[in-house]
Amino acid sequence: MIIGQGIAGTCLAWRALQHNLSIEIYDQGAKTSASSVSSGIINPVTGPKYVKSWMMDDLLPAAESLYTAIEQDINEVIVHRRRIWRHLKDIKAENVWDSRMVDPSYEHFILRPDDHRAHLDLFNGAHRFGIVTGGLHLDVKKMIGTLNQRWHREGFLINEIFDESQLEHVEKGYRYNGTIYKHVIMAQGYQGIGSRLFASDTYRPVKGEVLIVSISGLDLDDIIKFGKFIMPLGDDIYWIGSNYQHDYDHDQPDPTQTKDLYAFLDDVLGLPYDIMDHQAGIRPATKYRRPLIGEHYEHKGLYLFNGLGTKGISLSPYFSGMLIESIKNKTKLDATKAYKDSFHI
Ligand SMILES: Cc1cc2nc3c(=O)[nH]c(=O)nc-3n(C[C@H](O)[C@H](O)[C@H](O)COP(=O)(O)OP(=O)(O)OC[C@H]3O[C@@H](n4cnc5c(N)ncnc54)[C@H](O)[C@@H]3O)c2cc1C
Repeated sequence: MIIGQGIAGTCLAWRALQHNLSIEIYDQGAKTSASSVSSGIINPVTGPKYVKSWMMDDLLPAAESLYTAIEQDINEVIVHRRRIWRHLKDIKAENVWDSRMVDPSYEHFILRPDDHRAHLDLFNGAHRFGIVTGGLHLDVKKMIGTLNQRWHREGFLINEIFDESQLEHVEKGYRYNGTIYKHVIMAQGYQGIGSRLFASDTYRPVKGEVLIVSISGLDLDDIIKFGKFIMPLGDDIYWIGSNYQHDYDHDQPDPTQTKDLYAFLDDVLGLPYDIMDHQAGIRPATKYRRPLIGEHYEHKGLYLFNGLGTKGISLSPYFSGMLIESIKNKTKLDATKAYKDSFHI
């Protein structure tokens, strides 16, 4: 049984089916799941110091391989290889960027644009950019939505709220709603934070708001990061986001929390636009910025797959593979291979 069909549950379920495991998925289909509002970017070089993201040399090949296999399986285009233009805000930033350019371990990941004039026009004047290559943009909504419909049709996706208090540990596994499951994986994103079975004080959930905007004539193929991300969705529609809110009292879009996004559109981009949608999601982040993946210390066969934070699209393919392999082969999770600190359970 897999609880949750965000990016985590979707990768787990697809892999389990590839291994001919029999599964059932519970998902309540919340529109505010982090996955449904995510930009779906796998960005190999991140942060103000332009460093290669944690485990990127392992995560990127796993993501490319899994998402392209799913793409073929569902016969929909979901993987886009887009460059990311990073604004280099001052000479210090340019120097850091230049130091990465001569570092062989960054060879496949960064370029300095020879001609960035087209983009200079966008931002009222002289700004310099570096280009991140080798990353991916996943159409998360299309992937999750297509598989959701397929699995629902095939009868093993149950569109219901899973009630943890009704899960019973029995001799052969776990009983829920009259069915006995040998293994249960809880992949609920931020909604799993209140779980009594996997109570943890390491969660630090972070809300993010996003605007979906129509900007005619902008004509971008690449993604631009100029404080905020501008990501083309096709047909002159762009994903603009996001922000990071640590204090909030609900999970819905909040018009009082979008000032920074409007300031970006009005003051930085400075082009006419129409707002098509306003969305919000909560990232299941942790204090240590590492996922929470593993088997319950006491209840064998009960697993947690959560804490994917700001990087669920990058992390899910690699770690779902590891968890499903360990269940299928009845082996312990390979904590050495997975970098010990990613397992807190
Ligand atoms: C604005 C924003 C932008 C982001 N951009 C990126 C990005 O570019 N790249 C990247 O790698 N990551 C990004 N992230 C982070 C990424 O979206 C998350 O890490 C990831 O989506 C978490 O996935 P999840 O499956 O763990 O949780 P979720 O997406 O929240 O999915 C959990 C699912 O479980 C279901 N569920 C929970 N409890 C129950 C229950 N009791 N019964 C039934 N169903 C239940 C929910 O309905 C939901 O469908 C972004 C996040 C946000 C908010």
